[in-house]
Amino acid sequence: MRRKLAAGNWKMNGLRADLAELENLPQDQGVDVLICLPTTLIPAARDLPLAIGGQDCHAATHGAHTGDISAPMLVDAGATYVLTGHSERRSDHGETDADVAAKSKAAHETGLITIICIGETLAIRAAGTTLDIIDGQLAKSVPDCATAENTLIAYEPVWAIGTGKVPSTDQIAEVHAHIHARLAERFSDGADFGILYGGSVKSSNAAEIFAVPHVTGALVGGASLKAADFAPIVTALAAS
Ligand code: PEP
Repeated sequence: MRRKLAAGNWKMNGLRADLAELENLPQDQGVDVLICLPTTLIPAARDLPLAIGGQDCHAATHGAHTGDISAPMLVDAGATYVLTGHSERRSDHGETDADVAAKSKAAHETGLITIICIGETLAIRAAGTTLDIIDGQLAKSVPDCATAENTLIAYEPVWAIGTGKVPSTDQIAEVHAHIHARLAERFSDGADFGILYGGSVKSSNAAEIFAVPHVTGALVGGASLKAADFAPIVTALAAS
């Protein structure tokens, strides 16, 4: 079983001077710490004592895809993880579940650990079809080559990302138990996949979220930019 993971996502934020924030994060607490950086910052961060990830990769290894980054390029830069299917990639770039599966497969073939992001919109939550949408995303975004070693799932309700709104712990528990059960049905090691929660995680709510069954860590956006905000989340995960 994979260790618990506190993962940060800097999105399109950060210049080289901001990497100093990563020098002040707690180490050796028995949990893995990852920051998914803008690609420009990965080479400068590769020797820091934490894992470094990209935020997206192309499904092809190389070719005529101006502005894109391939999985081998991320590895070459120093990444060991990559996010795929983040809701901002799905909404800003029209990425489909099939695109996410193809990117994740390419990442696996290059040796990257993939964090595949799924989650419902507020309209889906209001319609009461969240678990149906989660089923579809799991079936179509997670490739057959996924294993507990090369894949984590991040459950990120779209309406909770960057909004300060957080589902109740009962709502998180329901979805995480569902994801855990679906993975266990499909993959021989499915019960061992890490399942992160993401969406407005902060130091003030981290402990209660980490106490929810089948939550094995967090994917954190805004609160990962400053060590003062992210360090208590890492510490809360280590204490959970
Ligand atoms: C995210 O970027 O995946 C995220 C969860 O952002 P935030 O923590 O800011 O809601």
